[in-house]
Amino acid sequence: MEEIKGFSNKILEINLTDKSWSISEASIKDREMYIGGKGLGMKLLYDRLKPGVDPLGEDNILIIMPGVMTGTGAPCSGRFEAIAKSPLTGIIATASCGGPFGIQLKTAGYGGLVIRGKSAHRCVLWFDHETVEFLDASDLWGLDTAETQKLLLASSTVKNTKSNLLDSVKVESADSKKEAILAIGPAGENLVRFANIASGHRFLGRGGLGAVMGSKNLKAIVAKGSHYKIVPVDSELFERLKKKANLFIKREAVTISMGKVGTATNVKFVNKAKMLPVWNYSFGEHDQAFRISGEMIKEKHDTKLNTCKPCSIMCGHKGKFNGKDAPVPEYETLTLLGSNLGIFDRDAISRFNDICNRGGMDTISAGGTLAWVMEAVEKGLVPHDVFAYPDNSHQVASDGLQQSESDKSAQYPLMFGSPCGIEEALESITKAEGFGKEMGLGSRALSQKYGGKEFAIQVKGLEMAGYDPRGSYGLGLAYAVANRGACHLSASLMAFEVFLGLLKPDTARAKPQFVKFVEDLTCSINALQTCHFTMYAYTLEPMLTKYTPKFVLKNLMLWLPEVALALFDFSIYPAFFSAITGIKMSSGDFIKAGERIHVLERYMNTREGIRSKDDALPERMVMETIIGDDKKRIVPLKEMLKKYYKLRGYNSDGIPVAKLFEQLQIPSEPCSIA
Ligand code: SF4
Repeated sequence: MEEIKGFSNKILEINLTDKSWSISEASIKDREMYIGGKGLGMKLLYDRLKPGVDPLGEDNILIIMPGVMTGTGAPCSGRFEAIAKSPLTGIIATASCGGPFGIQLKTAGYGGLVIRGKSAHRCVLWFDHETVEFLDASDLWGLDTAETQKLLLASSTVKNTKSNLLDSVKVESADSKKEAILAIGPAGENLVRFANIASGHRFLGRGGLGAVMGSKNLKAIVAKGSHYKIVPVDSELFERLKKKANLFIKREAVTISMGKVGTATNVKFVNKAKMLPVWNYSFGEHDQAFRISGEMIKEKHDTKLNTCKPCSIMCGHKGKFNGKDAPVPEYETLTLLGSNLGIFDRDAISRFNDICNRGGMDTISAGGTLAWVMEAVEKGLVPHDVFAYPDNSHQVASDGLQQSESDKSAQYPLMFGSPCGIEEALESITKAEGFGKEMGLGSRALSQKYGGKEFAIQVKGLEMAGYDPRGSYGLGLAYAVANRGACHLSASLMAFEVFLGLLKPDTARAKPQFVKFVEDLTCSINALQTCHFTMYAYTLEPMLTKYTPKFVLKNLMLWLPEVALALFDFSIYPAFFSAITGIKMSSGDFIKAGERIHVLERYMNTREGIRSKDDALPERMVMETIIGDDKKRIVPLKEMLKKYYKLRGYNSDGIPVAKLFEQLQIPSEPCSIA
């Protein structure tokens, strides 16, 4: 096997309109400044995408990027990023995924894949290290994400399809260890604005990137890699870092807990902190929440590991649901398709999850939109009979408990607390049928048409994740300013405020500083493409943070945040970058690269019209308190936002100022690459 020392700067450029392809080269300077993954992908998009294009039009560009760490065998490094203009939000969407595609892309010799144009016919893009094919996808159209991948990976089955192109091309060599697929389901084909893209059993979840593929008539992409071996430039240092990283992961409480029960471990913390979304974020806790906790799932569903590869944290699990093997729903799915709809039946949530995964759509946006419809039906804004359900659709919960009595006498097809009608609603969204077609536009579009903006729980059009920010003010600021909308991963402040108990949650103090820091760090981590969850182990286990007494750290974080931030040692990340690429990078350079990536993304959003008024939270979060909350918390957004803009170097309307561009060496006008 041939070797690639560290990384490849070869970018595979595809034009679906005329079925042409070429190779371009990312510059070493861009590699140093934007690292790879999300960062380099953002720069490639900046150089190519004109502002104002229709996200579902021919001119939108989809970029798929492996990271510097992808394919190296470092812990939690089997990841990659996708970027395009979002059809849900109209601004830049980014998503990271731990499926197998990224490693095959990189080991085919590419540091990135750029897809532009629109195919006249439904197609599959196939490539290896030396050639590209455009295959007919007529027989795959309409298949779900799992069936599509299975067919494309099974050469004999593919040959039996009627598709003439699929009959003739490289399917003879199909090998699931050497090929990986990106596939959309019916939701992507039907342009559901929150359609996702599957890679194995993992997903590029947020912002509707699946609809971007669908709009280009692109059903799937097959990468045949395993041609090159990715070898770190300094393999001795790399091996030492791997050992250290694994040690940190094994010692850190957060990553240990993730490995035992998965992200569902968060349910108990969030319910206790009274910030569990219940009934469209009206309540913050529920006495049935224990039924969807990770611990209960582990006990009742015979769970086993089902992770991204390679991974040392291992948060992904599968178990027995409805009598079959199925992925354990992630925390976000358990809350957005569970507690937030008033549902605590694990088998029912697993069925909802399965419909979304197979149909190819984001469970967070699907759940957030459903919750909006339930409340709109309750308030009479949407007719109660938009979905019918069969009389016998009442399900017995997985632990034998019945849903509440009100379920049995449900008169409304979609109502909080009842699973009735939800499967039908989700199916109708993926198929874009009836009212499902409107739901496929998301909660912001629905509320603009029917009213009820105040309870559309979204920011910039992206539905909010499963943590109520009234219990975590820093997260409230992070949701409001996150570049892709109400994202919990842009700056996961709830981890510091709630899970780790390091930062007082119900104060505005120090939050702007921490949001900025975590945003920048997260951007750089996503440029390396190692898992976000490594952040806990890699920043809290190094000596300085680990051995600083907790009460000292807490006080510093609150009263002297700049001093506290200096204690966070994240040097293992740039050390990995240097060991793999041979390019020297300090911690300062690393966080500066993150800032550069974040600001560039923000600037691209301002070109699409984003301003200060858009850095807002849903009215419910800033005007209403959680029902039953003695502390009467609402998010003090204005206060935090002003300080945040100042720290970021934005003007009062939220636009990065010219001086910031100079400081970060971002070209103020992109060189347009035709
Ligand atoms: S910790 Fe979870 S999300 Fe992260 S790489 Fe591992 S399995 Fe994937």
